[in-house]
Amino acid sequence: MPELPEAEYMVRRLAECAPTTKIQSLTILRPSLVAPQSPDELTATVAGRKVLGYARRAKNVLLHLDHGWSLRVQLGMTGHFFWIPDSRQLPRFTRLWFALPHHAAFVFEDSRTFGNLHLHRTEDLPTVFASYGPEPLDPAFTWQHLQASAARAHGPVKPFLLDQSKLVGLGNIWAAESLFAARLAPHRPLPSLTAPEWKALHKAIRQTLSAAIANTFRVTASAEEFPEADLLACRVYGRVGQPCRRCRQPIARFVQAGRSTFHCPNCQL
Ligand SMILES: [Zn+2]
Repeated sequence: MPELPEAEYMVRRLAECAPTTKIQSLTILRPSLVAPQSPDELTATVAGRKVLGYARRAKNVLLHLDHGWSLRVQLGMTGHFFWIPDSRQLPRFTRLWFALPHHAAFVFEDSRTFGNLHLHRTEDLPTVFASYGPEPLDPAFTWQHLQASAARAHGPVKPFLLDQSKLVGLGNIWAAESLFAARLAPHRPLPSLTAPEWKALHKAIRQTLSAAIANTFRVTASAEEFPEADLLACRVYGRVGQPCRRCRQPIARFVQAGRSTFHCPNCQL
């Protein structure tokens, strides 16, 4: 399942492969992925438009077009949006694709079809994302913002980190890794966190996500390959019973809010 690092990878790859390009046409093979929009209207609105740039918001890949509209690809569970050099060889799970000059294409591949594509006025995007929490890698996002988003919350820290209305981008893997890096136990009640601990958590989240993005580039060989999280780099996630890389005590696992949670009971307090 793509999380922030994989979505970021896709956006950076698009910018690398097709910094600017022109959409010649859009072919929608699975109309349910663009519902409730009309496939014909959507196709007509984007044909002939130039792509000016790419961006990411949480797990959405955004393509800004030259007529004040933006395409938003929501990746869902198995979605992958990428550039290919030859549209005559479309990947197996292609659900829609954009023809570009010289036979190139943007492809949306999605085996389980939980993803979707929407067209918005670019100026409306802040409204579209109104319920989203801040971006953890935004330079303007401080540890005080992180602490403030937990004000009046009383639950444990890990489910809070997964709540996308408080903070976007952390899934089960990177939340566990961030807490290990910050030396905080996943079950710590939010009101018990001190200012230095919030500061450490903020730093840990940013470092963990930045490293995860870099590792995604390292383990994903080509632009056409689905970007995978580098689980070998994980220090607690998926490592139950294995020795902690810091203290050699075994990594523990418990179920929290329905999700497997991994931690070192010795290092994380
Ligand atoms: Zn440890």
